[in-house]
Amino acid sequence: MIGYVSRVFFHTLASSRALQHLASRYGMRSPTSFARRFIAGETIDDAIAAARRIEAAGLTETLDLLGESVGTMAEADTATRTYLSMFDRIAAAGIGRNISLKLTQLGLTIDRATCVDNLRRILDAAGPRDFFVRVDMENSPYTQVTLDVFETIWQQGYRNAGIVLQAYLKRTAADVARMNTLGARVRLVKGAYQEPKTIAFHRKADVDAAFIQVMQQLLDHGNQPAIATHDPDMIDATRKYAAARGVPPARYEFQMLYGIRRDLQADLRNRGHGVRVYVPFGGEWFPYFMRRLGERPANIGFVIRGLLGERRTQTAH
Ligand SMILES: Cc1cc2nc3c(=O)[nH]c(=O)nc-3n(C[C@H](O)[C@H](O)[C@H](O)COP(=O)(O)OP(=O)(O)OC[C@H]3O[C@@H](n4cnc5c(N)ncnc54)[C@H](O)[C@@H]3O)c2cc1C
Repeated sequence: MIGYVSRVFFHTLASSRALQHLASRYGMRSPTSFARRFIAGETIDDAIAAARRIEAAGLTETLDLLGESVGTMAEADTATRTYLSMFDRIAAAGIGRNISLKLTQLGLTIDRATCVDNLRRILDAAGPRDFFVRVDMENSPYTQVTLDVFETIWQQGYRNAGIVLQAYLKRTAADVARMNTLGARVRLVKGAYQEPKTIAFHRKADVDAAFIQVMQQLLDHGNQPAIATHDPDMIDATRKYAAARGVPPARYEFQMLYGIRRDLQADLRNRGHGVRVYVPFGGEWFPYFMRRLGERPANIGFVIRGLLGERRTQTAH
């Protein structure tokens, strides 16, 4: 319940222009600025540098160009082109070929057909170069249409794409069965948005129970599922279930967000598990950053310390 209230609070703050202005002024200015805890930086070079550090630690990564709900087709086209150019940069850098994107970034809220075209442009470029493209899941107005778009491209034969399902949505038990029937690769998350009680579980115990149920369906019937969580109980439950069912670590992976629970990431790697880190970067980092604060209000402490530090540094110069 507290988690839900804090999420509502931070989602409301996320729409504050004054706060956005303040944050964008101080959040990313230097490598130690407070937003850097969760975001690799504003440029692809920053993301590649982060990926190199992650790979040096024996982990893998997926790069996400931050941005959601673009307002015009021109912006959707720009995001698409940026993703296309990322492929060249990632290939040249020799880092892992795995990206994540959001359909509203490709124009879903403006024109679905163009969004599908943009996604196809990305998948067409990704396929021959062996890139994997994960379609992130956004808030509930987009759940069905995101699944529909994913199924459209799946039926058209694209296999270098995967989808995300959110355990907090009551519909997910049915959606995971459908994705398993298709043979699609699913990333399972708890869910990061503020959703009404009619369609989503609010109590942590209910979300956790749903997460475990879907995780089991994925380990039993899924294709290379990604179990994306920092919750030690969910991780333990996954490892135990996999061991009991004889599912080897090579058939699934754990995923975590950049900057969160690096201790757990290392621990899982040491135990022989694949761990992929989600590396967000780009100029449009504010909504993503606010979702991370909403998940853990304690994070506000380091933001305030960071802000005070930044302002002091600025005054001193
Ligand atoms: C790789 C990846 C991709 C994701 N993609 C999506 C997506 O497409 N759509 C979507 O809706 N959500 C996505 N999420 C977010 C997800 O839905 C959750 O909001 C987020 O992972 C927090 O839930 P949790 O499973 O870690 O469990 P929680 O119960 O929220 O947290 C468990 C523990 O993890 C740590 N922790 C969790 N969050 C934070 C934080 N922000 N800061 C510091 N510590 C924290 C704390 O120690 C906490 O006690 C993604 C998450 C991951 C890891």
